[in-house]
Amino acid sequence: MKILVTVKRVVDYNVKVRVKADNSGVDLANVKMSMNPFCEIAVEEAVRLKEKGVASEIVVVSIGPSAAQEQLRTALALGADRAVLVESNDELNSLAVAKLLKAVVDKEQPQLVILGKQAIDSDNNQTGQMLGALTGYAQGTFASKVEVAGDKVNVTREIDGGLQSVALSLPAIVTTDLRLNEPRYASLPNIMKAKKKPLEVLTPDALGVATASTVKTLKVEAPAARSAGIKVKSVAELVEKLKNEAKVI
Ligand code: AMP
Repeated sequence: MKILVTVKRVVDYNVKVRVKADNSGVDLANVKMSMNPFCEIAVEEAVRLKEKGVASEIVVVSIGPSAAQEQLRTALALGADRAVLVESNDELNSLAVAKLLKAVVDKEQPQLVILGKQAIDSDNNQTGQMLGALTGYAQGTFASKVEVAGDKVNVTREIDGGLQSVALSLPAIVTTDLRLNEPRYASLPNIMKAKKKPLEVLTPDALGVATASTVKTLKVEAPAARSAGIKVKSVAELVEKLKNEAKVI
């Protein structure tokens, strides 16, 4: 079975994001960039399926600038076999990304596509679902357990108030939730080996996909700074302040 895994280059989760002075977006100059954490979980799951003998090949794909090759190399060091970069310097919205992924799916014909449930930069949580609609493949989103059994993949989904089990016919799309697995670190020998693994660079034009956006970002603002709290001396004072100052009771 061939598995396609999507990998997005995002601002590292440890970085305190700064908004540009002109409010046009987030400042990415000299900022540490990493693989989206949910995509790390997706890569790990594919590698585990390969280790179990279920998967025969793992192809990782990223859509973004040339620098996204770094995150693809990380995925190769973690155990992926081959990488594809669809190079674009444009700010692509989810539908454009999903259309590009659909073109890669048509080309690669994977049995399983694993995406993160959400990219931590834009928090969209929609690319997997859009790819599901474009391909017509069954989808199991927010997966906390994935088991391939014959021509089906059984997915346990994290939903409000509990877990839901679904059986999807292959080919299928899975998006990863936090509890699916704990990703490994790449070892130094594997980082060295990854440098020699194949990495193909494509363009949206070569895939025949128009990526013009229907959404325009008008303004990006940092949240208002919180004012300092105060200490009250008694419950009575707290109740008085909640009633008369905050006016919440
Ligand atoms: P989103 O819908 O933007 O929250 O992203 C959900 C998932 O879609 C991410 O975790 C990635 O696995 C995948 N994805 C989104 N954008 C890209 C991209 N530019 N390149 C590769 N994968 C992406």
